[in-house]
Amino acid sequence: MEKVRVRFAPSPTGPLHIGGVRSALFNYLLAKQTGGTFILRIEDTDLERSSRESEENIKDSLRWLGIDWDEGVDVGGPYGPYRQTERLELYQEYVDRLLETGHAYRCYCTEDELEEQRQALLAKGEMPRYLGNCRDLTPEQEEAYRKEGRKPVIRFRVPEGENIVVDDLVRGQVAFESDGIGDFIIVKSDGLPTYNYAVVIDDALMKISHVIRAEEHLSNTPRQLLIYRALGLAEPVFAHISLILGKDRTKMSKRHGSTSVVQYKEQGYLPEALVNFLALLGWSPEGEEEIFSMEELCRQFSLDRVAKNPAVFDLDKLNWLNGYYIRQTPVERITEMAIPYLIKEGYLPETLTPEDREQASKIVAAVQGYLPYVGAVVDHVQIFFADEIKPENEEAAAVLKEEQVPQVVELFAAKVKGAEELETGSVKKLLKETSKELKLKGRQVFMPIRVALTGQMHGPELHDIIPILGKEKVLQRLSQTTGLSLS
Ligand code: GLU
Repeated sequence: MEKVRVRFAPSPTGPLHIGGVRSALFNYLLAKQTGGTFILRIEDTDLERSSRESEENIKDSLRWLGIDWDEGVDVGGPYGPYRQTERLELYQEYVDRLLETGHAYRCYCTEDELEEQRQALLAKGEMPRYLGNCRDLTPEQEEAYRKEGRKPVIRFRVPEGENIVVDDLVRGQVAFESDGIGDFIIVKSDGLPTYNYAVVIDDALMKISHVIRAEEHLSNTPRQLLIYRALGLAEPVFAHISLILGKDRTKMSKRHGSTSVVQYKEQGYLPEALVNFLALLGWSPEGEEEIFSMEELCRQFSLDRVAKNPAVFDLDKLNWLNGYYIRQTPVERITEMAIPYLIKEGYLPETLTPEDREQASKIVAAVQGYLPYVGAVVDHVQIFFADEIKPENEEAAAVLKEEQVPQVVELFAAKVKGAEELETGSVKKLLKETSKELKLKGRQVFMPIRVALTGQMHGPELHDIIPILGKEKVLQRLSQTTGLSLS
């Protein structure tokens, strides 16, 4: 097989989107698996909507996910430049060829004339398209238009009566009638190329072997094929991957959750979890396994197993996967990620002492098992910082009224007071001793102490909570919530 050369070619008109990054990932995986090359090209010919800020966001998001490019903007390569606005001369060269061979022509129609034509077609119930008014202008007619001050666009002359078949790796053979297309613009009146034209020149000159992109571009492909053929350029293989839908099966949008990669980063998702999740949006592995590292994905990914039907974005599944990855990750890393959220919430000071760090790490260790994303840490740690503890509901309040409570709390408080140091091991011991000495079941001891200390019936292990609170706070809370005088 020819060497695989694939590209991700985003338009920098906003932050990197979930759909976009899934295309990037599939291209990347194919390249890595085959020892091929993954290219990042920036399609910035829409000057009004493109910005360097978006380009930076796209690159940062890709790097954060570990999707590095072998060739492209910033890193360079033999087929650069890799930003379309820096390639205008190349496009010009091929436009000249298309004009010379009659595959393209200048069109001088004004916006108003085109609109009139559109309305007329719609009134007849026909598909609006360009009807070719300027197809066969004489040099004199062109000159006259120019004298009127009209600025031409360049249109591609679509052959009549052709059946154009896109041979798609995911969707099979998809046929389009050329008569439905209409001569389309390849260079705008400001001299900039349109997407459908520039993409062909770039993919051909960059020797792209496979074009893997979103399904929404399938209808552009016949136009692109016509340009390849008119210029005698080698065609790549196409694979159009399905749309991503929300759980309600409508197109993924802000209503379904965050749509840009950076939002997930900001909420404290782990890049490896997001990559794992994105890979499963449309691709299905052979076995039942759902946890894949990037290396495993590179080994197992195959375009044959990319589904034709839409992928459904399930936030619960992402949260489950991310929670799984968080649990597998060393507490040090999760603590580093959690600290900014804890500072922002006022739980930690802006500048941390080594003791603050130590405390943060203990807190994170206690709640790590419960986090769907690291930003959620702030919802789980109030128990450590609250000034006043109240039972969360009637059930919790009832626990504090159980008859053994005064005995339990008094004995446990005495043990805490007498303890040299409170750490996981010693706290476990004190709890055990309390239930043994009072001949009570574990629950009769743990539950009142838990509710007295946190107000809640569920949460992190008591032997994690107590060392974090420390002696003073433990005694103060036990007394405050039970009304017992523990001095
Ligand atoms: N710039 C296009 C986009 O962002 C690229 C499409 C393609 O991959 O051909 O949608």
